[in-house]
Amino acid sequence: MSIKCQTIMNWLEAWAPKFLAQEGDRIGLLIGTPASEIKKVLVTLEVTEEVVSEAIQAEVQLIISHHPLFRDPLPHLRFDSYPTSLIARLVQTGIHLYVAHTNLDAAPDGVNDILARRLGLLELEFLFPIRGEKLYKIAVFVPEGYEDPVRRAMCGMGAGWIGKYAECTFQTAGMGTFRPLPGATPFLGEVGELEKACEYRLETIVPEGKLSQVLEAMREAHPYEEVAYDVYPLWNQGRRYGFGRAGKLAEGMSLARFAEEVKRSLELEVVRVVGSPDRMVRKVALCGGSAMVFLPQALKTGADVYLTGDVKHHEALDAIARDMALIDAGHHGTERVVVPALAEYLKEKAENEKIALEIVISRANTDPFLYL
Ligand SMILES: [Zn+2]
Repeated sequence: MSIKCQTIMNWLEAWAPKFLAQEGDRIGLLIGTPASEIKKVLVTLEVTEEVVSEAIQAEVQLIISHHPLFRDPLPHLRFDSYPTSLIARLVQTGIHLYVAHTNLDAAPDGVNDILARRLGLLELEFLFPIRGEKLYKIAVFVPEGYEDPVRRAMCGMGAGWIGKYAECTFQTAGMGTFRPLPGATPFLGEVGELEKACEYRLETIVPEGKLSQVLEAMREAHPYEEVAYDVYPLWNQGRRYGFGRAGKLAEGMSLARFAEEVKRSLELEVVRVVGSPDRMVRKVALCGGSAMVFLPQALKTGADVYLTGDVKHHEALDAIARDMALIDAGHHGTERVVVPALAEYLKEKAENEKIALEIVISRANTDPFLYL
């Protein structure tokens, strides 16, 4: 059994909801159509010439990338300039492109949680909290006998979670009325006649990121031509999200030793260090990618060192002036950890739903730098 691109998108967005992305970030399905059938997926950090060739050769229908292939509005679709040449090759070969970028950075178990886990950080906090997840209440009116299928469909797509409890719903019996108008093909009653039906009001809670898929599943399982339902925004807050993490090491160590720990746990040949090698490190702030913009937040957490990538000369001087040590483990070095996690997540989803979806990780080295 193959799978629709939309289903894979739903899986990814259940993990890294789109609302977590920074404004203007190019995320989601950038090339392709959600209705396409997908049999094979290539997961990568980056979409380069080499990755596109690999995808064509491996006959995948979908590339899932952390970094978007393009950000700014495209001035043209010429085949002889970057990145439009790559877009053209993907379109010509029918390969879809889906991107989970800053939404995956901020997501639970995303880039920054993976880094924090690799380094064994404890008592994690956010460097830059974003708003908590919005919650909604759905109340749907279901004819007798359909309350269980509709509940199952909604809960199966992520409704009804409260803390450690799943399938939390409430139902009340009542009487629904409706008069089918000419042109209607009613499940119950006759056209033109007022129908009184025994119905249940079935209500449950759903997080913002899963609202559209839960509503879709609800409509599909519901027998009525026109489904009566309400969606209420709630004041209750769901999961909290944020960029970057800060946490404590189980044991304090020198900056020099911590730099070695970073190299070991992220499998890197080299890191750049700013600060005295003897400085004691007990608390670490981190944010994968290019995140010196969060230096003030890293300082506020009381961290002894800030681990990120893409540190510029003047930013390093600024950190020294503010008495913050830095470890620049590279943009690529701090983010590539998410690629195997993405592949693992998709494999697990496909296995759970007994779908034969092949997932491959790109073998291309997309780090533009050599360390000589
Ligand atoms: Zn990045």
